[in-house]
Amino acid sequence: MMFREKVALTKRGVLAFRRYCPRYFWSVILRVLLETLIPYVPIYFSAKLLDALAAGETVRVLALYVLLTVGLVFLLKLGENWFRSSEEGYMNDVYMEENWVFTQKSLSMAYSSLEDQEIKLNHERVRMDNQTGYNLYYLTLCTERIWREMLQILLSGAILLSFFALGSIPLWCKLGLLLLVGAKSFLVAWKGKKTFALNDQFSKDTAESNLWSDKFYHYLSDYNAGKEIRLYATGDWLARKVADREAPYWKLYCKVQAQSVLYDLPLLLADGVIKLFLYGILLYGALSGEVSVGSITKYVSSMLLLVGAISGLGFSLSVAEGNAFFLKRYFEYLDIPNPMYKGSLTVEKRDDREYNVEFRNVSFRYPGSRDYALRHVNLTFRVGEKLAVVGLNGSGKTTFIKLLCRLYDPTEGEILLNGVNIQKYDYDEYMSIFSVVFQDFRLFAFSLGQNVAAGMAYDAARVEESLRQAGFGDRFASLPKGLDTCLYREFDEDGVEISGGEAQKIAIARALYKNAPFIVLDEPTAALDPVSEYEVYSKFNEIAGDKTAIYISHRLASCRFCDRILVFRAGEIVERGTHRELLANPRGEYHALWNAQAQYYTE
Ligand code: ADP
Repeated sequence: MMFREKVALTKRGVLAFRRYCPRYFWSVILRVLLETLIPYVPIYFSAKLLDALAAGETVRVLALYVLLTVGLVFLLKLGENWFRSSEEGYMNDVYMEENWVFTQKSLSMAYSSLEDQEIKLNHERVRMDNQTGYNLYYLTLCTERIWREMLQILLSGAILLSFFALGSIPLWCKLGLLLLVGAKSFLVAWKGKKTFALNDQFSKDTAESNLWSDKFYHYLSDYNAGKEIRLYATGDWLARKVADREAPYWKLYCKVQAQSVLYDLPLLLADGVIKLFLYGILLYGALSGEVSVGSITKYVSSMLLLVGAISGLGFSLSVAEGNAFFLKRYFEYLDIPNPMYKGSLTVEKRDDREYNVEFRNVSFRYPGSRDYALRHVNLTFRVGEKLAVVGLNGSGKTTFIKLLCRLYDPTEGEILLNGVNIQKYDYDEYMSIFSVVFQDFRLFAFSLGQNVAAGMAYDAARVEESLRQAGFGDRFASLPKGLDTCLYREFDEDGVEISGGEAQKIAIARALYKNAPFIVLDEPTAALDPVSEYEVYSKFNEIAGDKTAIYISHRLASCRFCDRILVFRAGEIVERGTHRELLANPRGEYHALWNAQAQYYTE
């Protein structure tokens, strides 16, 4: 990475830090200023005091120096502590804000990016970097350190101007001292660079194994997996697999630690040489009579602070430089573009629900996949119709729904809403016309009411009505806490465990509560028992009301009640018509599927 890019990234990082919490940013600037001044007060006034003593000044003058030293240090410390105490809370604000920005990014990302393995890995690496302290923590640390060290260099430099003007100390000594200080800074920067390269490689080498371990630890601790683990006695096997997989991680970790300790040795050596040289020069100056007693202490202290600041600055800059690599990854993640064109047309709110959606020669390939998941799909949804979609696994049914809801854009062809390409509509508004229950729907460990409403606040009467329509009425009546009942026990000891079928009914109720013009049920009956299944599909027309309903199911008997049935095969619609029409074609796909299942439904 070019130096200029590193500076630009660090600057962007500092600006982000200031934006996350301006009060914290300014507090650090002022606090460090006060903190840095503290040691210079005694350095300056002790020299004055010693020289005044040597010159035989009055007690009043001596007392004034003492009071000034103690008073100023006291005031500076007071100010420093005041700023520091308020920073505790500010730091939390910074992390909260940064977390929020990171989460927002994941939420606003195109769905295709969320499924992208490379982006998933990158997300994991940034999360790991953040946890290790890279990005924001190191950035705030560096900003603070660099600011302090620059102030120290300025203050010490100002005091030491008179030292470099001393005639009794030979020029080669002064230059030699500067050279040694420079060499030490170089060594510190070298160490910083090496350590960061080591850590970066470590983070690269272990990102995948971390992702893997996370998943396995999740299996080991997740009570949902507990049944399989016990029944199939996979516990030991899983635990051993985690241990085997982690062994190389820890080996690598120890190696990295040992190597970074080795980098400290040349630094220790350089420190000793500098101190030895400095004392030698000052002693020589004092013996020659040009350096006063007060000045000796002043120069020694200032010089030690200057050496510390210069080499510290070397270290801070190298940390900032190393952190730039992490910032690059961090900002690259935040900058991942959303390739979906998001138009601004508003979706008209229509009471008559006249939303005409048309697929026009739509074909689709998943990113990175060479095979088409959908091919030349042409279809117009009739407003208010009940449409069933059937076909074998992998025939493209779910993909068809994902495209309809704009989780992906077609690779070829277009989808129109009331004659206009759906890409031209405001994304959120377009989404608002669909209620979907996906096969892999998620309920959250919140209250039943919040789950159905998908939000904090809800209309209790409408939630109850949706639950009743979805067939959850009887179970709801048995819940003592009603809509306040918490689902699952993750956050609430009194939470209820619900069966797969019950969960599906709640998910259907959530779709009904949204009351969107389109309702899509992807395999809604897969987890339902036959009675509940019968309830859902026999009442499907009532449940869906005047909405356009799309019903994906493997159970063809459930689809009989729909106005139209689409049969998918290998991404294409190979048949369409009513149950009767399709069954009339003995060579058709539907006929074959129906006969394969008919044995279950003849009685
Ligand atoms: P169905 O719902 O009919 O079972 P899908 O629409 O889920 O079928 O899948 C259609 C095809 O697309 C399958 O070949 C499947 O492997 C592929 N597919 C589904 N999801 C993805 C994905 N996220 N990335 C790549 N290929 C996918």
